[in-house]
Order: sequence, then structure tokens, then C-alpha cells
Amino acid sequence: MVNETLYGGIEAGGTKFICVVANDQQDIYDEIRIPTTNPEETIGQVIEFFNTQPPDRRISAVGIGTFGPIDLNPESNTYGMIKSTPKEGWREFDILGNITDALQVPAAIDTDVNAAAFGEFTLGWQMRFDPLLYLTIGTGIGGGCIVGGNPIHGLSHPEMGHLLIPHDKNEDSFEGSCPYHQDCFEGLASGSALQERWHTPAEHIPLEHPAWELEARYIAMALVNFILSLSPKKIILGGGVMQQKALFPMIRVRVKEYLRGYLQTSAILDTESDYISPPALGNRSGVLGAITLAVR
Ligand code: ADP
Ligand code: ZN
Repeated sequence: MVNETLYGGIEAGGTKFICVVANDQQDIYDEIRIPTTNPEETIGQVIEFFNTQPPDRRISAVGIGTFGPIDLNPESNTYGMIKSTPKEGWREFDILGNITDALQVPAAIDTDVNAAAFGEFTLGWQMRFDPLLYLTIGTGIGGGCIVGGNPIHGLSHPEMGHLLIPHDKNEDSFEGSCPYHQDCFEGLASGSALQERWHTPAEHIPLEHPAWELEARYIAMALVNFILSLSPKKIILGGGVMQQKALFPMIRVRVKEYLRGYLQTSAILDTESDYISPPALGNRSGVLGAITLAVR
């Protein structure tokens, strides 16, 4: 018998949704993975998962970390709606409204990466690193940042994957895979870009392949820009591509090199330091992050 306050966490991704029932201490009581098809079917399964829980696993609030772009302005009449996604059927879908109407509990929503960043910030580490930057290098690239205890929102929300970084076409003739900007960060360094450039899925590119050195350089260039603009105290790199763990030391070395001694801090100078590190919450930072949004 569970006798404590439980929360629902939803990580809404472009390929799958992960839902959990958990407390605020990372104890997960139930979990489901649902393929992302059309909103009716996928959200129908999400609602069924929560509404068929036994009475002692009823949730008192739900947190949603979702792919975007999404309207996060509470004053707007499209608050909680997915905006200009190319994903069939999801454009203008009121993800927040549909979930709150069905579950009848208070709900919090943010981007998937802001949720993951908030999860790493509140649950991941012994101390709260503020600012904390979380980047996912997956099929695409996204980033979220906690500043002053809260995820950054603004004009809309950060879209860190589309940063422009130097691209030497003599060295790397790949044009880039971003449909909007071609050779932005995501266009050069996402899992899709790796696959297109090397004609092999990233998980099958061998360690000794030059792909990884190039990848480490692009990620390091982006990180230098984030370090100089946000001054994060911790940088977390998650997502499928970062399962290639050899990237971490390569990235740390390149970040130090590109900064050229401009920042004299051990986080940068000591390339053995875990300033740039994998998520403490592993592949659950998104969904546990969604829980932390609900608890807040
Ligand atoms: P998504 O971004 O779709 O939510 P992931 O974060 O799992 O999903 O990222 C998927 C990407 O990660 C794909 O491009 C895939 O090729 C790449 N990937 C998956 N596993 C590995 C691995 N072990 N090493 C390198 N790349 C990987
Ligand atoms: Zn782009």
C-alpha cells in the first residue's frame, strides 16, 4: 500500500511518450512507454495509464515535458498548445488542456529539455548547480537552462539546437541536415546529421572513425558559446548520441582548447573534471524532470 503523495510524469517525445507514477524522491511505482502516433491515440493511452491506476496510486498532480515548439505563456489563449511542429496531427494540439481535462489534477508543462534540466537541477546532484545547462544530442538537438532556480522562458523558449557555429566546408563538405538553417548546430551534429553525413546510424559508427572527432568539435564549439553567454556551473549532455561515452573526454579537451585560456577556472582547465557530464538521472531525466515540475 502506497501511503504518500504521488505524481504523474509525462515525457512527450517525437518517437515515444514515457509516463510514470512516482513520488518526489525518484521512486517509480509504474511506468509505460507509448509510441507517438496521432494525438487521439497516444494521449488516449496516456490517460488510460493514469486513470486505471489502483486507488493507492492516484496522482495529485501531473508534469509534462514535451517536444515543441509549445506556447508556454500562461497569459496566452493558446497556452499549453503545440505550435508549428512538422509532426502529422500534432500542430495546434492542446496537449495541456486534453490531459488536465481527463485527469482532473493540477498540471505543469514545459519543454522536454527544460523538464530534464529541472530534474537534473533538483534531483540529480548533491548540490544545486545554478545556472545548469542541459543539452540533448539525439535525433535533433535541444537545450534547457535553469537560471535563478527556474527554467529560462522568454520570447518563447530557448531553441539551443539551432545555434550557428563555424562550419569549415573544406574540412567537412556535408551541407547540414536542418530544414530551416542547413548547417546550424543541429544540422551538423544531431544523430540525423551523423546518419546523413556518414550513411550509417550513429550507434553503428565505430569508435576509431573520424566522425567522432568532428562531432566532439561541433559540440565543443556550441558549448563554448553557451559557457560564454550563460556561464553555467554545470553542463549535462544527454540524448542517444551521447551514449558514445568517448565523446566526453574529447569534448572537454576541445572546449579548453577553443577557450584559449580566457576562462581560468578548474571546471574548464581540468579536462578530467565532471563539469561537462552525462545526466545523473540517466535516461530518466526527462520523465523525472516532468515529476519535479509537478511537485513545484
Ligand atoms: P530522440 O532524440 O528521438 O528522443 P534519442 O535521444 O534516443 O532519441 O536519440 C536518437 C539518436 O541517437 C539517433 O540518431 C541514434 O542514431 C543515436 N544513437 C542511439 N544510440 C547510440 C549510440 N549507442 N551511440 C551513438 N549514437 C546513438
Ligand atoms: Zn536549424
